[in-house]
Amino acid sequence: AGGAQTRLEQLRRGVMVLMGGELEKRQAVLHWPTTHDALAVTGDPGRLEQVLVNLIGNALQAMAGEPEPRIDINVSTSAGRVIIAVRDHGPGLSEQVLAHIFEPFFTTKSTGLGLGLSISHRIAESLDGELTAANHPQGGAVFTLVLNRADKEP
Ligand code: ADP
Ligand code: MG
Repeated sequence: AGGAQTRLEQLRRGVMVLMGGELEKRQAVLHWPTTHDALAVTGDPGRLEQVLVNLIGNALQAMAGEPEPRIDINVSTSAGRVIIAVRDHGPGLSEQVLAHIFEPFFTTKSTGLGLGLSISHRIAESLDGELTAANHPQGGAVFTLVLNRADKEP
């Protein structure tokens, strides 16, 4: 109570402002349905945007060289929580990567810092939420951000 909150529409628009140029440059499609735009989650827009920008940036890098890069965002709700899943169509995550992916400075990129996911994980936890990583059964990586719903359920 009393903490900052963000409507999903605001989050979506903020992320598009930050990532629109990069998505266009890479001719990538970001599929983010507006269905849940009216929901509000706990957390300030800046930090939530930072998490999404990290996930989308990683997804774009994972699909570098693919002719039709596509990111699918799926929003759902469960028991006062809002679940935002970010799925790409890249190579996915090996067991070795999965074991260390949220550790600071873990990177497999020659010029990577390895901080984006550790910071994002910390942001999720600081909001009493979660960030988890997995492989999608049909291929690609999926990062699931769980946040608390800030608006009262009807
Ligand atoms: P960085 O992007 O600087 O390497 P991150 O913390 O953002 O640091 O990511 C850590 C590592 O996790 C990456 O180097 C990569 O190996 C792996 N990773 C993150 N996102 C993805 C993804 N969408 N697909 C495949 N691997 C990923
Ligand atoms: Mg990164």
